[in-house]
Amino acid sequence: ATPMSIIAGVGRAAEFGVLVRDADALQRASELDTLVFDKTGTLTKGAPQVTQIVAFNDFSEAQVLRWAAALEQGSNHPLAKAIRDRAGENANLPASDRLRTLRGLGLSAMLEGRTMLLGNAALLAQQQTEAQQAMALANEQAAQGATPVFLAVDGKLAGLLAIRDPLRAESVAALQRLHGLGYRLIMLTGDNEITAQAIAREAGLDQVIAGVLPDGKAQAIVRLQQAGHKVAMIGDGINDAPALAQADVGIAMGGGSDVAIETAAMTLMRHDLHSVVDALAIAKATLRNMR
Ligand code: ADP
Ligand code: MG
Repeated sequence: ATPMSIIAGVGRAAEFGVLVRDADALQRASELDTLVFDKTGTLTKGAPQVTQIVAFNDFSEAQVLRWAAALEQGSNHPLAKAIRDRAGENANLPASDRLRTLRGLGLSAMLEGRTMLLGNAALLAQQQTEAQQAMALANEQAAQGATPVFLAVDGKLAGLLAIRDPLRAESVAALQRLHGLGYRLIMLTGDNEITAQAIAREAGLDQVIAGVLPDGKAQAIVRLQQAGHKVAMIGDGINDAPALAQADVGIAMGGGSDVAIETAAMTLMRHDLHSVVDALAIAKATLRNMR
C-alpha cells in the first residue's frame, strides 16, 4: 500500500502547482543530483525576435527577409515565428513547394523557381553550401547569445538573420536557488555551441550540451545516467518528450506541448522555474518524513 506520507506529499505538491503522476516520482525526485534544462521556452522566454539581417552576394536584406518568412510559413518552430513577425502580417508571401523540415537543422524548399535552404551552419555544411563568408559575423552574434539562421539560394549564401530569445525573468534567481541546494545544472539544446554557451553563462549553468539533434536528447540523458548521475529533465517541447521519458524524473513546464505533459512524471502548472525548486523541496521533505 502507498504510505500515507507519500499521498500527503502528492497533495502538498499540488498545492504548489506541481502535479505528480505517480507516487514513485517523489521518491526519485528526492534522490536527484543533476538537473538538465531545455533551452528554448524553458530557460528562455521562447519568444525570439530578429535583431539583425545581413545580405550577401547581390541579394538584398528585403529579399532575404521575404524569402525566409515565406519558407517559414508552415513551421511552428519559435525561430519561424520570429522571422514571420519581422516580415509583418501584410508581407504577401509567395508559397513554397517541396518543403522538407530537417529537424534540429532547418528546412529546404523550392520558392519562386529557386532551391532554398534555411537553417543553421550544420545544415549548410550538410548540403555542401559554403557559409564561410558569414561565419565571423554569425559567431559574433552567437557570442552575444543570438542564434544565427542562414539562407542559401541555389547553393549560394544569400543572407544571415540573427535571432535573440532572452532569458525568462526568473531564470537567474531560480537557478541560483537550485545551485544553493547543491544540484549540477546542465543546458541541453539543439542550438549551436557558441550561442548556448553565451546564454548558459548569463543564466549561471554549469555545463552545456549543444548541437544535439532531437533524437540525441534522450541519448544525452542516458550518458549522464551511465556516469552514475540521477537526472531530472525539465522541458516543454515536443522534441523534449523522449528525454523527459528517459530521465529519472521528467518535469514538464506548464503551457508546454501535450506530448511533454503526457510523458513527464511531474508537470508544473505555472510556467515558472521557481516551481522546480518547490517540486524538489517537497519531494525531499516527503521522503525525510518517511524515514
Ligand atoms: P532547441 O533545442 O533550442 O529547441 P531545435 O532542436 O528545435 O532547438 O533546433 C535546433 C536548431 O536548428 C535551431 O537553433 C536552428 O538553428 C535550427 N532550426 C530548426 N528549425 C528551424 C527552422 N524552422 N528555421 C530555421 N532554423 C531552424
Ligand atoms: Mg525546442
